[in-house]
Amino acid sequence: MTTRRDILIGGLALLGAGLPRPAGALGRFPAGDAEIIVVSDGRMNLPIASMFPTLGDAERDALLAQNHMPTDGYRPDCNVTFLRSGDRLAVFDVGAGPNFLPTTGDLAANMAEAGIDPADVTDVIFTHAHPDHLWGLLDDFDELAFPNADYRMAEAEWDFWRAEDTLSKMPENRKSFVVGAQNRLAVLEERIMLFKPGTEVFPQVEAVDTAGHTPGHVSCMVHDGSGGATLIVGDAITNAVSFVRPDLETGSDQDQAMGAATRVRLLDRLAGDKARLIGFHLPHPGFGIAERDGSAYRFVAG
Ligand SMILES: [Zn+2]
Repeated sequence: MTTRRDILIGGLALLGAGLPRPAGALGRFPAGDAEIIVVSDGRMNLPIASMFPTLGDAERDALLAQNHMPTDGYRPDCNVTFLRSGDRLAVFDVGAGPNFLPTTGDLAANMAEAGIDPADVTDVIFTHAHPDHLWGLLDDFDELAFPNADYRMAEAEWDFWRAEDTLSKMPENRKSFVVGAQNRLAVLEERIMLFKPGTEVFPQVEAVDTAGHTPGHVSCMVHDGSGGATLIVGDAITNAVSFVRPDLETGSDQDQAMGAATRVRLLDRLAGDKARLIGFHLPHPGFGIAERDGSAYRFVAG
């Protein structure tokens, strides 16, 4: 039977024909008996002016150049992580969907290429509710993109975006984030399962409190059962500068001081545990390790 979703995916594939794709649409590696699969949702294109609010333009550009990042725009990849374990298939964040940016929303097409059927996803776990992580909840037809899944979000994140005064308190340039989140979270009202950091959100997956980027932001530590672990970071660490200057306040963090403190603490844990990490916005597929480098860190991809 051909469904509307098949027609949509077919259409997306057709539209994408001949266009340049993000470097590598897919990364896979084992985590014990489970498998981690990273699928691209595309790439954002953002101004760099507000990237590091405490730096002047020249200092910012020098720091970006030292870390092999462009100075004419910030173009981070968007990496969506799947975890296949036994008869369950989890996805951590759902991408941006069709209504955020023209350069994002590739997840459905890239999942089809990777042989992942959205109907097989049993668990959706959110790191936070920003547009590039949440708006893919609904497809072009305003239907749930993962119709058979249980949905989980940290209680603090849910409460923040659902609160009546969040819209009025948000700066003008981010009010659309609030409206977009509230519209989509309303769809989940009857089925969302809220959790607290420190609890298990999927077999062998622990939610780690990484608040700061948003009030209820979490990362998810996947334990492989033999002492190894992989942290699905979300947006607590976003680019090469996050490793070199974890203490530097970042414009995309809602609470910039807390975001920096969280990054410092998180990198210390990652380097100490020798845990692998997957960054939603690190160069696709976004996985590697954080090595200590003097008082800071260095990201080693792979
Ligand atoms: Zn974010």
